[in-house]
Amino acid sequence: MARKYSSKINKIRTFALSLIFIGFFIMYLGIFFRENMIVMTIFMLLGLVAIVGSTVVYFWIGMLSTKAVQVVCPTCNKVTKVLGRVDMCMYCNETLTLDPSLEGKEFDESYNHKKKADS
Ligand SMILES: [Zn+2]
Repeated sequence: MARKYSSKINKIRTFALSLIFIGFFIMYLGIFFRENMIVMTIFMLLGLVAIVGSTVVYFWIGMLSTKAVQVVCPTCNKVTKVLGRVDMCMYCNETLTLDPSLEGKEFDESYNHKKKADS
């Protein structure tokens, strides 16, 4: 099971944000190749692609958010969004499930993973 232990929406958001920084970094590197027009253009284009990619990812988050179910987290009492059957609270990483039959099961599993990550 390759389940990641952070809210899915938060994870995608972090990815989109890092993509923007990577894009600017690549463009910045392009400045060092000012003498070589072709290399500079390639760097600029790659940077642009990364930035455009992040905008697409942001748009995708927007789409996902409309589909996500809003629930009040039982642990921190904040309104969070659940994507799919099992997700985590965006604020306190509490495991949340929309399927009552999965409740005990999923929680055990996440517990095991957390212990592994700590050791
Ligand atoms: Zn919470």
